[in-house]
Amino acid sequence: MTAARTFFVGGNFKMNPTTYSGVKALIDDLAAADIDPKAEIVVAPPTLYLIPAAAHLATLKPSFTFNISAQNVYSKTNGAFTGEISPEMLVDAGIKYTLTGHSERRTLFKDTSDTVAARTKAALDAGIKVIFCIGETLDEREGDKTMSVCEEMIKAVVNVISEKDWANVVIAYEPVWAIGTGKVATSAQAQDVHHQIRAYLSANVSQNVAEATRIIYGGSVTAANCKELATCPDIDGFLVGGASLKPEFVQIGNARRA
Ligand code: PEP
Repeated sequence: MTAARTFFVGGNFKMNPTTYSGVKALIDDLAAADIDPKAEIVVAPPTLYLIPAAAHLATLKPSFTFNISAQNVYSKTNGAFTGEISPEMLVDAGIKYTLTGHSERRTLFKDTSDTVAARTKAALDAGIKVIFCIGETLDEREGDKTMSVCEEMIKAVVNVISEKDWANVVIAYEPVWAIGTGKVATSAQAQDVHHQIRAYLSANVSQNVAEATRIIYGGSVTAANCKELATCPDIDGFLVGGASLKPEFVQIGNARRA
């Protein structure tokens, strides 16, 4: 069924670059690059730069689908929530995607499975597509808890969104031990978890959702390791941190290209 799932590559710029001109240069370089027209590319600059980045991208003519994403979103429309932005604000700004539940949000900023699920639901309700991130720590992997941890994170979302909402969700499986460490999961490790996530969706949402949902891998993906990972039947693309700031991001976007 892989053919039906559009290859998806997300670039999470995190708190980089530190100037708008740096963000614009990355977008310009990508939009001009020769990337697989069958791929969908989405980059997530820092919040402050979302509006000019989206406005600038709208003036460019990439030969592939190219969108801008937020890195996080709150679960309320407006109000006394200092420092947060709402899904409605993203809609107003013309932003199509948001990440939710990135491991840095979960660990550094104490997002929980329930608050991530609430953010995910609020974004979907407003019409924003979601790159929903999950993954286990090294201790959890070594304690044989990878699937119970991932399933608990997914279950919180399954509990609050409807079956049709899944059409607008991309699941990013990002083992925490692989993020920013240079230690990429082997393709066998990643494929195994992706396969089990799909089985979980089949058992707990529906077979259709399991077959249609894109499950992407994140964690030290580079030009050197992306091709092999991209051959795995349940890996539908990547979420890329460090390498999304480098020219090699183009090669990652082309990981499925013959
Ligand atoms: C990420 O931040 O989502 C990520 C996968 O980072 P890196 O590619 O740098 O490991």
